[in-house]
Amino acid sequence: MPSLQTQIAIVGAGPGGAATALKLHALGIPCVLVDQAVFPRDKVCGDAISGKAATLLNRLDPGFMEAFRKKKDQQVGVWGIQFVAPNGTAVDIPFKFPYDMEREPAPGYVSKRIDFDQQLIQKVLESESISFHQGIRIETYERTTGGYRISNADNTFQVETTLLILADGANSGFSRKNAGLEKDPRHHAGAVRAYYKNVSPLHPENFIELHYLKEVNPGYFWIFPLPNGYANVGLGMRSDFIKKQKINLREVLVQTVNEHPLLSGRFANATLEGAVVGYGLPLGSRPRPISGDHYMLVGDAGHLIDPLTGEGIGNAIYSGFIAAEQAQKCLETGNYSAPFLKAYDQRVARVLGAEMKLSYQLQRMLRYPWLTNTLANWISRHHWLVELISRMYTDLELRKQLVKPLFWIKLLKNRITSSKIN
Ligand SMILES: Cc1cc2nc3c(=O)[nH]c(=O)nc-3n(C[C@H](O)[C@H](O)[C@H](O)COP(=O)(O)OP(=O)(O)OC[C@H]3O[C@@H](n4cnc5c(N)ncnc54)[C@H](O)[C@@H]3O)c2cc1C
Repeated sequence: MPSLQTQIAIVGAGPGGAATALKLHALGIPCVLVDQAVFPRDKVCGDAISGKAATLLNRLDPGFMEAFRKKKDQQVGVWGIQFVAPNGTAVDIPFKFPYDMEREPAPGYVSKRIDFDQQLIQKVLESESISFHQGIRIETYERTTGGYRISNADNTFQVETTLLILADGANSGFSRKNAGLEKDPRHHAGAVRAYYKNVSPLHPENFIELHYLKEVNPGYFWIFPLPNGYANVGLGMRSDFIKKQKINLREVLVQTVNEHPLLSGRFANATLEGAVVGYGLPLGSRPRPISGDHYMLVGDAGHLIDPLTGEGIGNAIYSGFIAAEQAQKCLETGNYSAPFLKAYDQRVARVLGAEMKLSYQLQRMLRYPWLTNTLANWISRHHWLVELISRMYTDLELRKQLVKPLFWIKLLKNRITSSKIN
């Protein structure tokens, strides 16, 4: 069979690959996009679409988010996060102050990935310059003089490309075998999720809930509200701790739902819909090389998941946009060399690096239940502190205070005020 010839081929059409293709389309650059799945397809996930993801997609096309918001049966708007310490103290941190749930668009969303990803794919299908091929699993990557030849198992599908963009997720074969990004359990998490119906009560203002339990440490148990009475319920934990403590995440999830003194009551009338399913999360707490001669790694394939929150959709989209802009520079200059593509690594590090580093520090800090309990107790007693922490969602410099002992010492002495920190 003759090969398809293209300058840019993308493997994987999840949020990372779809965002790359859509950004290339916006730049007027054609590409070939391939996915092993036939869409709509599911992806094991917490289904939380962060403010970062929503902002980036809005920047690409305001019409996309507008249409998404109208699909009330496919998403719920989210207004903040409820953090629950191991001692049960709950702290609600809204995404912004003040907020008006009736009049403003929600800052974040929860939407089943089967629905959310399908909306991105719909946009891909409407974009003439994207040649999209579904149901084709890429098995081989051959280096050619001018780039790469990629093909499926029986060679009935082949693409010759000058630039290869890998957005094939957490189990990317290319990332591991060709780019050398081996799994490091200290910078990797395992997680499981299940859909439950009739968890009650859910947060009245659709906050997503993160419960820090001593059984899942470092990590958390979550309850995220979905439309039609559903909730995405799951838990995730760093892989080295899962191994060391020989933890079976599926069993811990079921046990938590059935027996946890603070949570089981909310599941008394809930039913599990479908199976408890799991997947890996390659965390961005250890910076890795994400490009080389004629290729770039995007999203999970580039190990870009936030090590504290497990958020990866926003970072997949962000890295996809940057990869598309770097691809444009490659086309303009005819340079696809590893040194030239290093600019991609540098830009990703510039926009995500400091955030990842801080998240890793916070992940390690929250490993101590006494500390998490103490912080939750303090914060829950001071409204101004809740407001201050709310500003940290969008103000990274302010968020950096969280890992500075002096910030907490001042707080302990009750000398800090909201105005003084400005
Ligand atoms: C349990 C769990 C909960 C999570 N919760 C959240 C959350 O609430 N919010 C959040 O932001 N992130 C969350 N994440 C992380 C998030 O799911 C990922 O970061 C995100 O999906 C990354 O997008 P991606 O496009 O890089 O990869 P993916 O979404 O995995 O897409 C990869 C695509 O590549 C295709 N593919 C793979 N191999 C091949 C091949 N050989 N040939 C062709 N196609 C191929 C796949 O079919 C797939 O469509 C969670 C992860 C897990 C495991």
